[in-house]
Amino acid sequence: TELTKDDVRNLVKEYNVKFVRLQFTDIFGVLKNVSIPVEQLDKALNDELMFDGSSIEGFVRIEESDMYLRPDPSTFVVFPWKPREGSVARLICDIYNSDGTPFIGDPRNVLRRAVAEAEAMGYSMNVGPEAEFFLFHVNEEGQPTTITHDRAGYFDMTPVDLGENARRDMVMTLQQMGFEIEASHHEVAPGQHEIDFKYSDALDIADKVVTFKFVVRTIAQRHGLHATFMPKPIFGIAGSGMHLNQSLMKNNSNAFYDPDAPNQLNEDCLHYIGGLIKHIPAITAITNPTINSYKRLVSGYEAPVYIAWSYRNRSPLIRVPAKRGQSTRIELRSPDPSCNPYLALAVCLKAGLDGIKNKIKCPNPCDRNIYELTRQERKELGINTLPDSLYDAMANLAADDIVKEALGPHVLQRFLEAKKIEWDNYRMQVHPWELDLYLTKF
Ligand code: GLN
Ligand code: MG
Ligand code: MG
Ligand code: MG
Repeated sequence: TELTKDDVRNLVKEYNVKFVRLQFTDIFGVLKNVSIPVEQLDKALNDELMFDGSSIEGFVRIEESDMYLRPDPSTFVVFPWKPREGSVARLICDIYNSDGTPFIGDPRNVLRRAVAEAEAMGYSMNVGPEAEFFLFHVNEEGQPTTITHDRAGYFDMTPVDLGENARRDMVMTLQQMGFEIEASHHEVAPGQHEIDFKYSDALDIADKVVTFKFVVRTIAQRHGLHATFMPKPIFGIAGSGMHLNQSLMKNNSNAFYDPDAPNQLNEDCLHYIGGLIKHIPAITAITNPTINSYKRLVSGYEAPVYIAWSYRNRSPLIRVPAKRGQSTRIELRSPDPSCNPYLALAVCLKAGLDGIKNKIKCPNPCDRNIYELTRQERKELGINTLPDSLYDAMANLAADDIVKEALGPHVLQRFLEAKKIEWDNYRMQVHPWELDLYLTKF
């Protein structure tokens, strides 16, 4: 049941909404807000609200800065944590140029283009994300620390677990906002949590992921905690991933499922995996877009390192869970929650479609523990490794025409420019680890 503009107008009255936040993300997936008093809502719904795109990172040059925000009525939701009288709602927007054409640098448009390509081939994509995050204490000045609620010594005497309470509040808030929560649990590391919500189509899920991150942070703050989706906040313990369970639908049924095929997997599924495996070195720049992302992709913490797939094993890049029928899906385990979900889903879908179009053969599944194989054994099995740095991933992105096409020239160029600066800044730092190792040695 998609909401219409009129539904939005009625809901605004019903909930006594006083402010509406118009939301969109920049190319890094950072949520941006323009808040308007409810009196301006009609203007916004009629696409008459302009904003200056030059102020948004990675958007436009100054001379072409007039953009329109076109609110998507189906994304309307009232923030449950705001006061009942004078409440606040949000609408996620598509971004349009002043001439009325969609702005190709808008991440939502990047995903829409990939979804449209799938549709033209008769497919639609479903995604179920599993975002992990840490809850940390804040210090007396209100600054986030990396002290976790279940490790913090001074907290031992309190009978309640602050983190578990915060998570329960997050789940209830998300439910009030229309999320169907399937599971929420403590993860492996102290202070680490996961909340899973029901799969949906790609655009809806990308919208939900940005909303999810914002809700989790907001609710954590109300519990005096800091939530972070940084992939590897602490050396030596597990990092936070965002597994992406993906499937394609065709004629209203699961295109990955074939009851008569070996392992009941349709060849579309195997080609989709083939496409992902072919393009994963470039995809990684988008699904793991920070310097810190690569500190998670190391062995020993259930994060993938090797480019392989499997039916059971937990260590590979792609796993095919045992569920069949309508639940047949593949789980890509490399992405982390610092990615822009619109871009991440667009490049995955595009790679999978390339696999289907060109019948890209997927390698044999590897049901052995890859981490126990020797270099020689991996070589014989043709198992390569994921990029081991942002720099490495960027070089792979720059060399992959399919992934580049998925992003479009505007996003690609700005992404590479910004990440080059990020890399150079990092490269010049003198890390405490270096001082530990070299200061007295030389
Ligand atoms: N935290 C692990 C990662 O970095 C995943 C753990 C799990 O969900 N099995 O991907
Ligand atoms: Mg999980
Ligand atoms: Mg998990
Ligand atoms: Mg998983």
